[in-house]
Formats: sequence, structure tokens, C-alpha cells
Amino acid sequence: MLSRLATSTLSRLALTVPRTPLSRSLISLSVRTSSTLPPSSHRNLSSASAAPHYHDFPEPIGFEVVSPRPVESSNAFPSILITGDEELIAKGSFAEAQKAFIDPDPQAVSSLSEGMEAANVGIVAHFYMDVELQSVLQAVPNQKRVKISDSLVMGDAAVSMCRDGASAICVLGVDFMSESVKAIMTKNGYGHIPVYRADERKIGCSLAESAENLSYGAWLTKASQEKDTNPLHVIYINTSLETKALSTNIVPTVTCTSSNVLQTMLQSSLQIPELSIWYGPDTCMGYNLQTMFEKVLKHWSDEEIKQKLHQEHDRKSIQKLLNNLHVYPSGNCVVHHMFGKECVETVQSQYPDAFVSAHLEVPGEMFEIAMEASLDDKGVVGSTSDILNFITKKVEEAAVEIQKTGQVGGEKKNLQFILGTEAGMVTSIVSNVKRVLASNPAAKDFVTCEIIFPVASDAVMVDSESEFGISPGVSGGEGCSTAGGCATCPFMKMNELDKVVDICQAIADGKSESLTGLHPPKRLEGKFINGRPAVEVGVDSILHMRHLMSEGKFSEDLVKEVVERSAANAN
Ligand code: SF4
Repeated sequence: MLSRLATSTLSRLALTVPRTPLSRSLISLSVRTSSTLPPSSHRNLSSASAAPHYHDFPEPIGFEVVSPRPVESSNAFPSILITGDEELIAKGSFAEAQKAFIDPDPQAVSSLSEGMEAANVGIVAHFYMDVELQSVLQAVPNQKRVKISDSLVMGDAAVSMCRDGASAICVLGVDFMSESVKAIMTKNGYGHIPVYRADERKIGCSLAESAENLSYGAWLTKASQEKDTNPLHVIYINTSLETKALSTNIVPTVTCTSSNVLQTMLQSSLQIPELSIWYGPDTCMGYNLQTMFEKVLKHWSDEEIKQKLHQEHDRKSIQKLLNNLHVYPSGNCVVHHMFGKECVETVQSQYPDAFVSAHLEVPGEMFEIAMEASLDDKGVVGSTSDILNFITKKVEEAAVEIQKTGQVGGEKKNLQFILGTEAGMVTSIVSNVKRVLASNPAAKDFVTCEIIFPVASDAVMVDSESEFGISPGVSGGEGCSTAGGCATCPFMKMNELDKVVDICQAIADGKSESLTGLHPPKRLEGKFINGRPAVEVGVDSILHMRHLMSEGKFSEDLVKEVVERSAANAN
């Protein structure tokens, strides 16, 4: 059985990987952390929703109200400062552009909510959506019909909106997301409910497209020809249903997310004899996982692996897993590829006290400094949800500490967070931080939270037609590229608020037929693989993941399929 650590997230694994010397272990970290807070508050801090309230703590003895002193911080990167009086202070034009959209236009909110009401529409949106759009969505009064989440939760949210009576679902994300949402709705009996995207054009994804070329198929074919091991393809969720279906036809395939990829690898290697894992298409994430297993082997004993990683694993089994882990070498997300060496050096020299976050997809350098920081609870690596939860937790801890002890000396505590992922997350972060500060009145004058965007110096281009005189994007080029970066996904930004309002209007006016260009891709419609509908074959890999998540292990059917297909290929 997995330990609590391994069933949660990779970020928590990173927190427990000891550095040299080995004495900097999880135990010492836990003791240090616990000693700063009362047991009850420490327990409560595990989730944002369970945040302790002001009333939970006695009035601090000797609480002294003093005027806070101003905070000083580096200006090397653009940032947004979130203060207790709800004020947002943006530094740098990129941050100003982000901030300008965080407080939504009331007119835009009412147009959208009235439209949604009239059309009986539910909206599921990815965290990486444009900040303007996200902030309007968050202000819609009927939040039962709005969900902003990672890609896995989007499908489930759409199903529950259908159960609640929604007549149509609008998906704000990239095309593989609308395609997956539709497939999950169909699987749950809601295939008749229309799904709409927010642009007639293809809304691509560089990472998903990395797996749509001949070389990915060739790499999998090589996997299927393995002689001495039983291959399993572990595919990142950011891929099309077509890729999932075609891959499944070559090698047994299971989908994973950044939150459960570690569990997927650990559990499959226990259940499937002589397993080899073929992970793709996200090369950065695959290499990050290899690095992490190497660190485990370098620093942990059998006992520590059992305690902190998985009860049924030890050094020998992790070494075997690592030896048989293959990573697709050419899969890149254009956004995550931007956090390169130059950014990392600036983080280290200009922000020595900042917490560092990195999505699992970001390249090695940023990932490594975030992982190093996480060893001292000064950072986090993981999914978008992990990053959001970490920032919320740190602000809660600071607020609770001030509530409890009173503020001595009048210095403001400015918590700085390097945001090593897509900048669209800032809307959710601002919303959580404001909520925490609002619920801790004694702390609100003393705690500020600064979100720092580690973008390259050429990340903003001058645009005289823009309202701000600038546009996030690489100077001298279209959209994002590996040459610099704006930390915003150019594909996600194709989803526009006006279009969503237009969709609602067309549905409410009974003109849904005009929206056919907005349906999700139907590349698999009417196609069959080995006599089965191709859509079903594509969904199989997602269902294997769901089985793992609900049961804590893979189904016997999957184990049997991996072993039998491998044996058949060998003959
Ligand atoms: S950030 Fe954009 S390009 Fe990168 S994986 Fe997400 S959708 Fe694809």
C-alpha cells in the first residue's frame, strides 16, 4: 500500500528527499515546522478550506498594534503584491497587464451571468485561462455552473453540471480538453448535451502535438518490440483522445496527471511483473521524475523508502523501476520551456528569501531549484493545484502566527513566491490570498503576498495598439517561444469572453445550429480500432487512471493485458 506521502503528490516527495548531509531529513523538518505552531493549527493548515479562524485563538498576550513598516523587494522580475486591504500593487508592465484584469468589470460579469442563465449553460475552464476571463468567471453569482480547475477535474465538473440540469457545456481550454470533457460526458450518459469551444479555429497545444507525429508512433513501436520486459505506456493527460487511442493500439496505455504520475509509476511497477515504463510526451516531466528517483536512491535507505514513499518499495525495486523507465526525448510545452538558466540565476541572486514553485512540466533548472527549496519547506514542485495550495498554506501560516503572537516591531511580513508556471494562475492565487487575509483581521496589516513572474527580460513586447502600450509576448516574435517568454500560454489565450457571451446568446435565441464550428474535434467519430469505437479505446487509458485513483491500484484486467500483449508480440 502507498504511504500517505506517496498517495499525495510529488511535491510532498520532494519535501522529504534529504539533502547531504542526510541528517536534514523529513523528521527534522517536521519537528521544526511543528514547533512554530500549536498542534491544532498545524493540523488545520493542511488545506485551504480548513484554515483556522481568528476566533480559534485566544487574544494574544501583549498584542501591540503598531504601524507596519514598508516592504522592500527586488524589481528584477515583474510582480503583483497582494495586501490585506485588498489593494493589488503591480510592478512592471507585464504584472500591470495581469493586475488590470483581476478586478472584473461588473458589466462583463452581468452580461456573462445573464447569458449563462438564459442559455442554461455551464462553463468549465482551465487554470491557465486568461486572467480577465478567470476573474469574470469567479464573479458570476451562480458558481454551481462555473468550474476553474486542472484538466482532469474539468470532465467531472461538466458531468455534475449536466446532472444539475445544464443544457450545454462551454469548455474554456485547448482542444484536447474539450474533446476529453465530451468523451467523459458521453461515458456518463450525457453525450446528447452539446459541448462548445470558444474559437472556431483549432486551439492547439504544443505538448499534445509533440505526440502527434511519426516519431512518437515509432518510439511506441520500439516499446512494443521489447524482448525482456512488459511495456506500459504512461501518457500525460495533455494529449488528444486520438493520441491516446492510437497509442493504446500499439502498447497498453494508462493516462496520468502531474498529481498522480508518481503513484502511477510506483504502483504499476509493483503490480506488473518485469515492467518497463514508457513515459511521454512531456520530456521535462519525465526527466524530472528520473532525477527524483536518482535522489531517492542516493539518499534514502530501504526503511526510509518504505516509510516515506511506498510501503512495498525498497532501494532494489526503485533502482529496477529507474532502469526500466524510458522518457520520450522530444516533447515540449512552449510555455514551460521558458523558465531557463537566465531566469534561474536571477531567482537565486535577487530573491534569496522567496518561496520557489515549479510545475512538474518545467525544465530541469527551475524544477531543481524549486525541489531544493522544497526540502526546507521553502518551495513546492507539483501540479497547478499543489502550487495554489502551497501558497495559500504559507499565507495562512504567516497570518495565524501573527494572530497568535501579535506583531512585534511593526515590520511587514512580505511572503514572496516565484511562480514557476503559467501566469494565468494568478487569479486563483489572488482570490485565495484575499480570502485568507480577510479572515485574519489582526494579520491583514502585517502580511503581504508577492507573486513574482520569473519571465525573461524580453518577455513583453511594445504594442502601441494595446490599451497598456504593451502585450505579454516575446519581443520580435509571434506569441511565446523558447527564445524568451511571457509565461502565458498562447493557445489558452484564444478563449475570449466575448465569444462565450455570443455562444450563450445564440443558444438562448434558439440558434445553436450556428455554433457547429465550435464543437470539439471529432477526429475519432465513426472510426473503429479492432472492432471497437475509437473514442472508447481512447477513454480506456483515462479509466485505468480513474481505477487507480479510486482503488489505490490498477485493475487486474490492465495487468493481464500488459503481460498477454507483450507475450503475443514476442512470438
Ligand atoms: S501551457 Fe499551453 S502549450 Fe503548454 S501544455 Fe498547457 S496548453 Fe499545452
